Amino acid sequence: MSELTQLIQIIIENFNKKTLEIFLDKKPDNFFLEKNNEGRTILFTLLLENLDYIFSKIFIYLEKRFSQNPLTLYNILNQYDNNLNKLIHISSEKGNLSIFKYIEKYENDIRSLNNEGYNILHFASKGNSPEMLMYIKEKYNFDVFSRTYNGETPLHIACVCGAINCVNFLLMLMDDINVINKDNESPIFYALKSGKIVIIKKLIRKGIDVNLKNCYGKSFLEIIENDNKYNYIIKALDIYSKDSKGNFVSRVEFGNSYYCFFYFFILEIISFLVNKDYFFLQLISYVILIILFFQLKNSNPGIVYSNYSNVSWLEIINKGYYINLFCPYCKIKNTYYTKHCFTCGICVDGFDHHCSWIGNCIGAHNMNLFIVFLSFILYNSCVLYFISMKSFSNIYLISNLLLNNVICIGIMVFCLLTFIGTGYLLGTQIKNVLKMIYNILS
Ligand SMILES: [Zn+2]
Ligand SMILES: [Zn+2]
Repeated sequence: MSELTQLIQIIIENFNKKTLEIFLDKKPDNFFLEKNNEGRTILFTLLLENLDYIFSKIFIYLEKRFSQNPLTLYNILNQYDNNLNKLIHISSEKGNLSIFKYIEKYENDIRSLNNEGYNILHFASKGNSPEMLMYIKEKYNFDVFSRTYNGETPLHIACVCGAINCVNFLLMLMDDINVINKDNESPIFYALKSGKIVIIKKLIRKGIDVNLKNCYGKSFLEIIENDNKYNYIIKALDIYSKDSKGNFVSRVEFGNSYYCFFYFFILEIISFLVNKDYFFLQLISYVILIILFFQLKNSNPGIVYSNYSNVSWLEIINKGYYINLFCPYCKIKNTYYTKHCFTCGICVDGFDHHCSWIGNCIGAHNMNLFIVFLSFILYNSCVLYFISMKSFSNIYLISNLLLNNVICIGIMVFCLLTFIGTGYLLGTQIKNVLKMIYNILS
């Protein structure tokens, strides 16, 4: 057993006996400056070993002992280990904000770097505490693009450490995430090293370039496509399709649009051309569909507004909130049912999905309307199907019988497909609602 472990053992035992002060009183001032082989003092080791409670007790003891002689305390707290790490660095990574606040009071260079060029923001990104990250960022105005000697930004480090909560906040803070280290590697290469799918997906959604080549001439995409061990990532990214440049675009959220509106408009016009007998039936069902469509498009899905929009993150943290429960973009305190929609840029209560066909989110407040709308699409496709069936082999505007019949069959097939697709969606939707009601009741 090394001398330091032995010492810590004694401290823990004494601590339990509440005779820690008596034990420490016997020690000379130099005791707190003594270092082990790695160059770490006793306080340093306690912090590394996560003995936070003992650390704070000793800290309070030291403040009392050196109240007449604060310079000694400054000296004790500003020691470097062999890798030029200081207490402030380690406490940033550990993420305990109250311990960090003890140390920062006596820190004489908050921007000091270790031997790899890490500042405290880099260290905070290693741990997974967004409170620590945002506290440092806002209080000392650290640059989120600051680089280590290897050219890494805090986002690189959070990605390789799998610090998902910090990644969330860094993505909010950084407008450009195609930042590269000295090996020409962007954060997605680092995310690949940690293998965390969630982080990779978040980077892609934020628009990272997956074709950027590193200094070995390999891009992220090439790496995952040429190595079998990354098959699971390719599978997970299956929800994306690629654009002309070979970058991923989300298939599910392709913007706010009128697809639904046009889809039925064209179907109605064509079926009207082949059969005018049911003009009014067609007109009425289409008008109702359009009214429902615009109602839904302009409806409020359940937008949640923030009580903190004018409050800084620093104030929120100082009030004692855990901000990983907050949406980084809207500053609202998320619950189990709220979720941020990246297409609309809002947090939605009871978020179900963002519907690109309509161009609005579907949430708790417009779910009823959405179900009515889907049911009406089902009804409408039945009407169109019926009309096309009736006009089969009738000659109206189009004089070519064969062409007429081909068009009729085409419409019927489209109606059938719409019916199946919408029916499936309606079923899922009703299942979700029932599940939610069940969750609330139980
Ligand atoms: Zn949000
Ligand atoms: Zn949305």
